[in-house]
Amino acid sequence: MALLGRPLRRRHSQVMHDAAFAAAGIDARYELLELEPDEVEGVVREAHGPGWLGLGVTAPYKQVVAGLCDGVDADATTIGAVNNAVRTADGQLVGFNTDAPGFRAAVEAAMGRPLAGIDVVVAGAGGAAHAVVFACLSAGARRVTVGDRTVSRANELARHFAGIGSAPVTGVALDDPLFAAELRSADLAVNATTVGMIDPGMTIEVDTLPARATVFDLVYVPAETPLLRAARARGLRAANGGEMLIQQAAIAFERWTGMSGMAGVMRAAVAPLLADAGGQA
Ligand code: NAP
Repeated sequence: MALLGRPLRRRHSQVMHDAAFAAAGIDARYELLELEPDEVEGVVREAHGPGWLGLGVTAPYKQVVAGLCDGVDADATTIGAVNNAVRTADGQLVGFNTDAPGFRAAVEAAMGRPLAGIDVVVAGAGGAAHAVVFACLSAGARRVTVGDRTVSRANELARHFAGIGSAPVTGVALDDPLFAAELRSADLAVNATTVGMIDPGMTIEVDTLPARATVFDLVYVPAETPLLRAARARGLRAANGGEMLIQQAAIAFERWTGMSGMAGVMRAAVAPLLADAGGQA
């Protein structure tokens, strides 16, 4: 197993998967391969071999690896993003996406209820936001509003998902008054941008949300972003992206090995890295 990306600053995935391999008694390891662009194709070719279970992939190689796979499963095709690939018994690599089911498991635990029937507001229109919107629509959310700094990306995402599920998906600019207006009736507000991790500030005006709302921030370093701090100060339910990371890793592990139930082992292994100030390799 290897994670392909550049740079690879975090070793959360490696720690989780190696702990799960050890607990399952599987003689395998999860390597971090920080590759130059011209090295990617060779590693993907090698990963077709019998010594491999599959690959993890992160920025900036998600698209190129998807193109080098022999197939991409239906959900990942709809989402438009692959973050893992599994080697099948006949030596094919099939791309799949674990962010969507990982988000669903983590957010439903954070909310204490299913996504079905709720109003969702999402900040961001990148790869993670696509997985979040797909998860909400396929789980039966009632209404999804996507706000992005770049309004054309929000509109494009909304168009991309029109017709999945029965819920309307609306794209707006993050600073459009409509975005703030949608927050007033949101059951769930999600930050799927890098704000709070890379850039300071918040994408969601917490004071606008109703008291029943849950705030979910995909960022997990730092453990408590300014958004989560503000949400908790208001007494709202709030969760970071740590549990999503664990759930998506457990889903990928099951796909590679056939072994389920590894979230607990992974959670314990990654806990020190998910604590504040942890996580940098
Ligand atoms: P991406 O494809 O690069 O998208 C980045 C998003 O952030 C875009 O919507 C971008 O807006 C927005 N953004 C960046 N800087 C901004 C700013 N200053 N103000 C407002 N918006 C800004 O990245 P991604 O893969 O979707 O990841 C997004 C976040 O989710 C990252 O923090 C990542 O770590 C996290 N994530 C967490 C998990 C998990 O398991 N917890 C899984 C996946 C991702 P523009 O469109 O205007 O550029």
